Amino acid sequence: MHPFEYTLAGDADQAVAVATADPHTSFLAGGTTQLDLMKDGVLHPARLLDITRLPLKGITHTDAAIRVGALTTMEELAADPLVRERLPFVREALLLGASTQLRNMATIGGNLLQRARCRYFRDPTVPACNKRNPGSGCAAITGIHRMHAILGTSDHCIALHASDVAVPLAALDAVVHTQGADGTRAIPLTEFYLPPAETPHVENVLQHGELITAIEIPLLPSAARSHYIKVRDRVSYEFALTSAGVALVIEDGLIQEARVALGGVGTLPWRAWDAEDVLRGSRADTEVFRSAAEAALEGARPLPGTAFKVDLAKRTLVRTLETVAGAQS
Ligand SMILES: Cc1cc2nc3c(=O)[nH]c(=O)nc-3n(C[C@H](O)[C@H](O)[C@H](O)COP(=O)(O)OP(=O)(O)OC[C@H]3O[C@@H](n4cnc5c(N)ncnc54)[C@H](O)[C@@H]3O)c2cc1C
Ligand code: SF4
Repeated sequence: MHPFEYTLAGDADQAVAVATADPHTSFLAGGTTQLDLMKDGVLHPARLLDITRLPLKGITHTDAAIRVGALTTMEELAADPLVRERLPFVREALLLGASTQLRNMATIGGNLLQRARCRYFRDPTVPACNKRNPGSGCAAITGIHRMHAILGTSDHCIALHASDVAVPLAALDAVVHTQGADGTRAIPLTEFYLPPAETPHVENVLQHGELITAIEIPLLPSAARSHYIKVRDRVSYEFALTSAGVALVIEDGLIQEARVALGGVGTLPWRAWDAEDVLRGSRADTEVFRSAAEAALEGARPLPGTAFKVDLAKRTLVRTLETVAGAQS
């Protein structure tokens, strides 16, 4: 492990100023991604700036939304009574992620910024990884890529976005609040992540030193029902092969409102806009759900090792839609 300096941030202004001035400084929150990657030799910042004492913890409510401080842990967010009542699929996605121990350390800001689980990214002895070493190639495309993406990929990177909770947050149009050298910003989550294209090492729109301060999550209407299904190789402590987060409002058998996002398939949390268009105004039945799933996966670009995901993702979405619709009948 490379030597590094450890500094405790006193306040947000100082944290942003210190990190912005030094490209070799990284923020440290729960450390469950950052420290793993440093121990594996993937990341080697000269300084870790510990932000865990900043006043960015806790959840506040309005009638329309909740605001989650970036340092709130996954477990704390899942335990919030309003999340349980009005955002059940957010709670489900949180509790299906990682393990209880990890969720008690892992912050919601850090969760959104977790890095790819690609084995070649996480092994610095592999030379070809455009994300870790821009311009070096992509070992996964011709290598083992069963856990990789089929939507939003490029010829330069096929790494999956691994966050579970980002899936319902994308469906809900959550907003990421930040503080940077140029002031504060409110960035819709659906515009926060960047597809790999030709620059897989640039994963989101944050500037270096820009701090996530909070996530604003709109509440679902009280008539809505929601659900998150995660399909994985084992039932706990595993990342998704496919997942779906769905919220529907159904009246008299007709879908009035639909919010759909997919996990386990995209290079970013995948908002399924086309599926929503199929669903909105249609009858809540399996035929319509299958059409929505076809629309959601239309742009998939599977490789041999990920071909199974196309059908699995469709089935996952249909099952999730059926479950939500069944809950309303
Ligand atoms: C074994 C294991 C299994 C896991 N399984 C799952 C799973 O099933 N589903 C899932 O969704 N996740 C899973 N995770 C990922 C886990 O949820 C993340 O590691 C965790 O949420 C990261 O949060 P953290 O506070 O520890 O972030 P850190 O590790 O401290 O930071 C992560 C990154 O975010 C940056 N950062 C952190 N906070 C801020 C901020 N406020 N502003 C700006 N930058 C910031 C850091 O500089 C770093 O680059 C798993 C992790 C492990 C180790
Ligand atoms: S998929 Fe992306 S992260 Fe994995 S080896 Fe290829 S470029 Fe690197």
